[in-house]
Amino acid sequence: GSTVETLEFQAETRQLLRLVIHSIYSNKDIFLRELISNASDALDKLRLETLIDSGLDADTSDLHIALEVDPQARTLTVRDNGVGMSRDDLVELIGTIAKSGTAGLLEKIKEAGDAAAAQSLIGQFGVGFYSAFMVADRVTLRTRRAGTEAGTRWESDGEGTYEIQAVDGLPVGTSVTLHLKPVDGEDGLADYLAEWKIRQIVKQYSDFIRWPIRMAGGERTDAEGVTTRQVDTLNSMKALWARPRSEVTEAEYTEFYQQISHDRLAPAETIHMRAEGTFEYEALLFIPAQAPFDLFSRDTRRGVQLYVKRVFIMDDCEALMPDYLRFVKGVVDAHDLSLNISREILQQDRQIRGVRRRLVKKVLGALKDVQAKDAERYAKLWEQFGRALKEGLIEDTDSTEALLELVCAASTHEPERSTTLREYVGRMKDGQDAVYYLTGEDRATVENSPHMEAFAAKGYEVLILTDPVDEVWVERVPAFDGHRLQSIAKGQVDLDGPADGDEEAGAEKARREQEFAALLPWLTEALSAQVKEVRLSSRLTTSAACVVGDAQDMTPTLEKMYRAMGQ
Ligand code: ADP
Ligand code: MG
Repeated sequence: GSTVETLEFQAETRQLLRLVIHSIYSNKDIFLRELISNASDALDKLRLETLIDSGLDADTSDLHIALEVDPQARTLTVRDNGVGMSRDDLVELIGTIAKSGTAGLLEKIKEAGDAAAAQSLIGQFGVGFYSAFMVADRVTLRTRRAGTEAGTRWESDGEGTYEIQAVDGLPVGTSVTLHLKPVDGEDGLADYLAEWKIRQIVKQYSDFIRWPIRMAGGERTDAEGVTTRQVDTLNSMKALWARPRSEVTEAEYTEFYQQISHDRLAPAETIHMRAEGTFEYEALLFIPAQAPFDLFSRDTRRGVQLYVKRVFIMDDCEALMPDYLRFVKGVVDAHDLSLNISREILQQDRQIRGVRRRLVKKVLGALKDVQAKDAERYAKLWEQFGRALKEGLIEDTDSTEALLELVCAASTHEPERSTTLREYVGRMKDGQDAVYYLTGEDRATVENSPHMEAFAAKGYEVLILTDPVDEVWVERVPAFDGHRLQSIAKGQVDLDGPADGDEEAGAEKARREQEFAALLPWLTEALSAQVKEVRLSSRLTTSAACVVGDAQDMTPTLEKMYRAMGQ
């Protein structure tokens, strides 16, 4: 054989491996799901490549996954005849974690402190291939990339280094051989050499994998004395989204969701639809119960995958789901698209834009349904995804109305409960024509703002908006249900509307204006570096003065935000 190279895992990978090996997951069974899912991806990729590039010399007549057990050697092998990896692929994909956000994840795990929180974080991240080291003390991988001659053998005990070596004569595809740890009931290791156990795991986690997962069963001797090894296909292979809704159980939806999302929880909402007509497609979408840890990090990815006629095309399909709905997970399987369609073309495709509009409507509709049926559950969802949804008010003007119905905000009406805009409007006073709000850094600051005084005194309800994104969307959205959104900190908010005709009040105002006629210009002059103008106000009841923005001015929080971004 050729020389063996010993390479080091990248530092972050080492840390992650340590976490995996020292049993971050309580459920070790999922290692098989991860390996099968990688094998399935590799088969998808090979099929796609041969469909696009007819020159690629690869046998795709019997694409499948094979599971092999060797009780003597105590090994379990997951084999596929998919696309395989080159030596460089191996170093890059297995030796380092290309995934963005690894460093951030490790940081959060350290902060989390307790094991359960860490487990939930890493569960969302999905450790993929490395999960093999939960059950194996050594892993050997042999692989050959389709269209190339050279094969590579990779081996590691997961401790810090791995060996890599060129080998001849490998078939196209990948085999991953796990040298299983001794069985020990205590740390959740089952007997992964047992056929029943493997069948059970495959059925539970990988039933809808679209490629056959085969395993050699026991030997059988027929009447003539000929002994054969029976090979069984363990999975049903039915793409869940292609089945009628009535035939899919809740448990199957949950398994599927957990597989694609790496979430450990069940989804909050499931949307399963089929569109017929000129552009046919099936969609199976999920709203998670909990936001992923990286929902607001720059490189978080959208969760919708695109398939064309059961062939996987791409992850993170931005053409199908707007950025603010990046937490939605699922699959769209379109029937009439080219397999080698590019992201750029997809973005411009009129029909795809139609699909996207429809999916957005469905998702917002599902949220609206929860809101109507179960306020408490809705409040939880809003807590998780409200900030992202409010980005939609900036990004997606087609959905402004639907999104405004979903918005929840704290309010002076009932300090313990947030309110919808619809509820706010229902409580508006006679003659009140605007929805009043005040933005600020946190609730206490807003509540104690001098701007609040007159509104509180008159019994007007004011929304308390404290998310940074609030500053932006309230500027973009002109009105809700015909009622203007009005900041109580900006411009001339005239609280004396109905009393204007009141002669006594008018006389009082004139008297005060006269009284302060000399003071105001003097103050304006003295404070000219800080303010544009000093004027009398009817806003205040107990405070002596407050600073008011022009109608077009940036709010202090927004100013701070822009400054923080270096603008
Ligand atoms: P993920 O599947 O989320 O990308 P993994 O850790 O499971 O993360 O796998 C890392 C990468 O290694 C995969 O993206 C793939 O490129 C490669 N890989 C893993 N297993 C296989 C396989 N059986 N065949 C081909 N490539 C594989
Ligand atoms: Mg994987």
